[in-house]
Amino acid sequence: MKILVLNSGSSSLKFQLFDMPSEKVLTKGLVERIGEKQGNFKAGNAIIEKPIANHHEAMQLITNYLLDRKNQLIQSKDEIKIIGHRVVHGGNRFVQPVVISEEVKDKIKELFPLAPLHNPANLTGIETAEKIFPNAIQIGIFDTAFHQSIPIENHKYAIPEKFYKQGIRKYGFHGISHKYVSEQALKKDKNNKKIITLHLGNGASATAVVNGKSFDTSMGFGPMNGLIMGTRSGDIDQSIIFYLAEQKNYPLSEIKNILNKKSGMTALAGNNDLRDIEQRAKHDDIQAQTALKMYANAIKKYIGDFTAKMNGLDALIFTAGIGENSTIIRKLTTVNMDFLGIVIDEEKNQNPNEFDGEIQASDSKIKIYVIPTNEELEIAKQAFELYQNNI
Ligand code: AMP
Repeated sequence: MKILVLNSGSSSLKFQLFDMPSEKVLTKGLVERIGEKQGNFKAGNAIIEKPIANHHEAMQLITNYLLDRKNQLIQSKDEIKIIGHRVVHGGNRFVQPVVISEEVKDKIKELFPLAPLHNPANLTGIETAEKIFPNAIQIGIFDTAFHQSIPIENHKYAIPEKFYKQGIRKYGFHGISHKYVSEQALKKDKNNKKIITLHLGNGASATAVVNGKSFDTSMGFGPMNGLIMGTRSGDIDQSIIFYLAEQKNYPLSEIKNILNKKSGMTALAGNNDLRDIEQRAKHDDIQAQTALKMYANAIKKYIGDFTAKMNGLDALIFTAGIGENSTIIRKLTTVNMDFLGIVIDEEKNQNPNEFDGEIQASDSKIKIYVIPTNEELEIAKQAFELYQNNI
């Protein structure tokens, strides 16, 4: 069965076509700069550059590519039985993947204020796919859903109760990725009962996973909290916000922009690309070296927090662009952690692939894995599972 996975952003549309249950990727690609002067479409060897006015036009390009005979992907649109959509925010409502209905779409709309950048774009993707593939079953998979298992003592804030009743709580994000990599670690060893997954990409979050379920996570009500990221601050003292607003007359919109877009590694090292910062650090650039240490320390803080709350740790997982590729960050994050039983093998850390992604030293009590994330496959798997069980 062919499942199309869509990840719709405000000006982009990424897609992958899977054959399930074989999990074979039949094709993948993306449309970028939708709504801008010049857009582009890339998939396989195909590149199209032209203005792409909206998501409907983007979806048409994808459909034409899928139907193009020489690509040998599908003969007719009806071959795509399921479309799995990544939806960032599912609030308290969505714990599992769901078949998209009018009611589900209304709920996704209701959640716009909680994810103003993502949910509107995700809904546009769903509505576009419904029009172009009217016979496919549309399924929503939510990035927050995995974290709905976080117990109340780990998801509630110590602020007046009325706000909790209004839905102000920790939701957590990157759930599709945390779920995928923690399941991979459980497949490697069923004794991996207490896991910390480190999704370190441009956005970054850490999650404590107990017996396959999210138990705590570093992002909170929104995705700015927790670890230091490419352009986001991670944890800061709230009083900074009030000081900037009240004493320095910064409008709230500017503070939000600073904390979202001008902070993190961009603020610390003038750049959000870790490859560049690493190069500078190697050449004794103190600013870059400090930025890397701060980045690693923010992660250590959560390793300590989660290990204490879980009363132990079996495995640590590095994933996403930085987690999968940065030897230096993996080293800085795990150095001087032997008191917790975390000891990395320097040689294995240089080349995790050669060691099946397992890079702890022989005297490490804790397993250390590098596991490539695959959010699209996770979406396809969850959509397929829902289809098999309920439809
Ligand atoms: P993602 O959001 O998962 O695509 O990750 C993006 C981040 O991964 C960026 O900060 C990149 O600099 C970083 N990244 C990608 N490749 C490497 C690499 N080889 N070494 C270090 N960082 C990398």
